[in-house]
Amino acid sequence: MKKIQNYINGELIAPKNNHYIDNYEPATGQVYSLIPESDKDDLEHAVQSADKAQYDWADMPSEDRSMLLMKLADAIEKASEELAKAEAIDNGKPISFARAVDCYRSAANIRFFANAATQYSSECHDMGNVGVNYTLRQPIGLVGCISPWNLPLYLFTWKIAPALASGNCVIAKPSEITPMSAYIFSRLCIEVGMPKGVINILHGSGPSIGAPLVEHDKIKAISFTGGSSTGKAIASVIAPKLKKYSLELGGKNPTLVFADSCSTEEDLQSIVSEVVRSAFSNQGQICLCGSRIYIEKAKYNDFKKLFVEKVEQLLIGDPLEESTQHGALVSKQHRDKVYSYIELAKKEGGTILCGGNKVKLEGRCSQGYFIEPTVIEGLSSECRVNQEEIFGPVCTIQPFDTENEVLQKANGTEYGLATSVWSKDISRCHRLSTKLDFGIVWINSWLLRDLRTPFGGMKSSGMGREGGLEAMRFFTEPKNVCIKY
Ligand code: NDP
Repeated sequence: MKKIQNYINGELIAPKNNHYIDNYEPATGQVYSLIPESDKDDLEHAVQSADKAQYDWADMPSEDRSMLLMKLADAIEKASEELAKAEAIDNGKPISFARAVDCYRSAANIRFFANAATQYSSECHDMGNVGVNYTLRQPIGLVGCISPWNLPLYLFTWKIAPALASGNCVIAKPSEITPMSAYIFSRLCIEVGMPKGVINILHGSGPSIGAPLVEHDKIKAISFTGGSSTGKAIASVIAPKLKKYSLELGGKNPTLVFADSCSTEEDLQSIVSEVVRSAFSNQGQICLCGSRIYIEKAKYNDFKKLFVEKVEQLLIGDPLEESTQHGALVSKQHRDKVYSYIELAKKEGGTILCGGNKVKLEGRCSQGYFIEPTVIEGLSSECRVNQEEIFGPVCTIQPFDTENEVLQKANGTEYGLATSVWSKDISRCHRLSTKLDFGIVWINSWLLRDLRTPFGGMKSSGMGREGGLEAMRFFTEPKNVCIKY
């Protein structure tokens, strides 16, 4: 059985304790590789190696750092077929999605921040004939990056790229549930000649390696993406140590569809297709997925009929089949959690319009963790199904009468990550954008991304922003130098 290895000091090595945990293929329910259950000793090794590497890396001319990162992006592109297959096997997502979204964005993330390394500049504050201030933005030193399982290499690179581009050395922990693409990535780091110790990748569970990483005194900043409860627990450890932290957490994102947006049959068709994509991409396991869909009453029935029709057409199947549109959920435990919300919806008085069942496929995937894409109506905005993050292929639809009513409902959860509004009334779109309590507001679109924009959530959805300059600022320490003439 294939054993994944840690990447420390430029080498692929076994965990010091020689302890491994099972890695399951969610589409088959079978163990297909072993993951190091790394601990404090491996962390210490990684910290020492990063410590040694940090000054040379920080002092390297930014053009050279940028060139190395460009090589890494090229290497990801070259290995994209291998990586797409790894993501599909490890996570259960359709291979076509892994190729178009995960692999494409992983290379794009690295390339974007490779460019940023050469473009990042600092401010100067002129005091007339008295003096001048300039602000150095220096690397922090050693930083920790912790990423989740839903978009494994995509979110992993989204963190490590700005950290490396701005001159830090990184100790990264991918999710124990989906470690394979980060393992392949460590091989690519060796191939392109990343200097030893600049990036170290430690595999293992949250308690065994995530928690020690967060606590380690030499790690000066933590960039974390994951669930809100984990994020809050991490914040309670980091805050008293006065480390920098950025938390990208859960979401319960509302989609607002106004009747004017789908006044023609053509508009209705295209909006419904986009809303299906926003609810069910990656089996609904994207923090940005719209899982609460509010439709203005005048168009509710037309929307509902077409929406259910299109959701029922999503092809459930083996993630490795090109035609598959809806794959497996990431783990048995997660599948059962998602399913428990479908049962809860029934208890809360909801009506299942389509889906609602676990799926047993024929052949290779007969033991896989599949759930039908599920649409529920008849639930109140306040019920648990509409308040708690399910993070799976389950969405609710609800009619609304007025703009004010839907605004209250949209804002009425503890989360504030992303929302999308569908309307042709431009004034309404601007008005709502100012009042919606979300870090990201999409108008007549969903997941349209520009990597320069601030990315992150309000309320329980997080703290701080990633993306573009926000990320470069997070990973650097500003130092003002004041000169009197
Ligand atoms: P978790 O919070 O369970 O885990 C996230 C990462 O943190 C994993 O690598 C995990 O390790 C690690 N971890 C767990 N406990 C600790 C700890 N005490 N200290 C340090 N690290 C720890 O989230 P999931 O992996 O289940 O990811 C799904 C969640 O991520 C959803 O809530 C989703 O909304 C959110 N998310 C947010 C995004 C955003 O940008 N806002 C984007 C994508 C997802 P391990 O898995 O090995 O235990």
